[in-house]
Formats: sequence, C-alpha cells, structure tokens
Amino acid sequence: MRAYANGDSIMKQHVPQESCPCGTKQPYETCCGPYLSGELVAGTAEQLMRSRYCGFVYRNEDYLLATWHPQTRPSRVRFDERQHWLGLSVRETHSGSDDDREAFVEFIARFKVNGKGHRLHENSRFKKIDGHWYYVNGEFL
Ligand SMILES: [Zn+2]
Repeated sequence: MRAYANGDSIMKQHVPQESCPCGTKQPYETCCGPYLSGELVAGTAEQLMRSRYCGFVYRNEDYLLATWHPQTRPSRVRFDERQHWLGLSVRETHSGSDDDREAFVEFIARFKVNGKGHRLHENSRFKKIDGHWYYVNGEFL
C-alpha cells in the first residue's frame, strides 16, 4: 500500500481501483464512486465535498456542475492540465446533517503544479435544496 501521507512525488493521477482520492482509505467504488456515477446522492455536505474533490481529481465536469448551487454555478469548469491533486483533509464540518439547510466544510487540498506543491485551504458553504446538497461558494483561509 502506498503512503499518501506526505504527498511527495506522486505525480500520477489516481485510478478508480485505488483507495478513494478523498482520503478515507476506502475503495473508490464504495466511497465517492457511487456519487459521481449518480447511483447515490450525498447525504451530508461533507460527503458532497469529498465527492466533488474526486470530481476535480477525475476532471468530471458534469458532476461538478450538477452539484453546484444554481445561483453560483459557472457555465463550465476549467481544469488546469498541470494541476495534480495530491490529497484532501477535512478539518471541520458544521451542520451537515439531515435537518440542516446550510453547512460549512473546512478542508485542505494539496496539489502540485510543475512540481511545486500548493495548499488550498478553504471553508466551503453548502446548501440543501429538495434534499440535495449543493456547493455554494468558498472562503480561502
Ligand atoms: Zn471518497
């Protein structure tokens, strides 16, 4: 089993047979896979956030747009070919259970561009419409 802990020198994209890119150490097929394939709907904001991270890793524009709140959804998602995602860690989640309409997920996502490491530290806002969570926007920390 490969260690993702430091994220160094892992330039290759994840493939679905490996553990889920979102960092749960579960196989992709039983973690975020069913959300991206449309089999399941994310039940919490954190699940949605994790699956959207996979959407960026696998450059799944349709999934990212479908899970974007209609009020903030862009017309398309541009992926940077040079950007290689290395890992995700969810720091904190506020109110993301069944009864809530709004939730915040703070996370750090690491990536490399041209061999140089970067961190994206964001507090993302999610809203629920008709039982489905949507990404609204994020604040960089
Ligand atoms: Zn996952």
